Amino acid sequence: NPLNGATFVLAAHEIVQLPFDQGAEVAFAGRSNAGKSSALNALTGHNALARTSKTPGRTQLMVVFDLPRLKTEAAEPLDCRLVDLPGYGYAKVPEAMRKHWRGEIDAYLKMRRSLRGIVLIVDIRHELKEFDATMLQFCADTQLPCHVLLTKADKISRSQAQKALDAMRKHFRDNNVPGTAQVFSSSAKTGVEEARARVMVLLAT
Ligand code: GDP
Repeated sequence: NPLNGATFVLAAHEIVQLPFDQGAEVAFAGRSNAGKSSALNALTGHNALARTSKTPGRTQLMVVFDLPRLKTEAAEPLDCRLVDLPGYGYAKVPEAMRKHWRGEIDAYLKMRRSLRGIVLIVDIRHELKEFDATMLQFCADTQLPCHVLLTKADKISRSQAQKALDAMRKHFRDNNVPGTAQVFSSSAKTGVEEARARVMVLLAT
């Protein structure tokens, strides 16, 4: 697992606190409770890399993880990072904080030159929420690659999961989103290898 060995670097309140903008990073986004922490833990093979039980206040940070210097297609070792973005779809987050974060995430997405792509975590049982639609719209506007993990697939049938996957892909086509999507489950470890491979491809982009 090339994502194994991920280590905590820092938690940033503002984008100026982020590590120097060089190398390659992939940002993880998702509404609160979508299963983002569980997905990060599954992908990196850590049990508690990203906290799985968090209070709303504590989730409001960008958390940066370093990956051991990955050998990418470029043959040159490259500094690689995963960035855990706050899920501001959470109703209990105060409006002022949500506004602050919307601004910071916006700025991060627009200005971060090392950002290679986004992994968007979506609960497979839910239809597209405003947070997700906004992220995908951003990717469409900037043509930043996005990979969607339709997670908690263990909670529904295979045919329901396929329907959700088809619907997401249709959304990509209809909205010009440079996206890929897959069925995922942190609990059942479904799609973990595929997701790792996607992250690696994004980092090497
Ligand atoms: P986050 O807020 O997006 O980081 O979400 P968490 O990873 O903390 O997960 C939210 C809740 O969903 C927790 O109770 C998890 O145990 C549960 N959960 C996360 N992923 C899965 C999954 O793949 N399957 C099932 N059944 N539950 C999951």
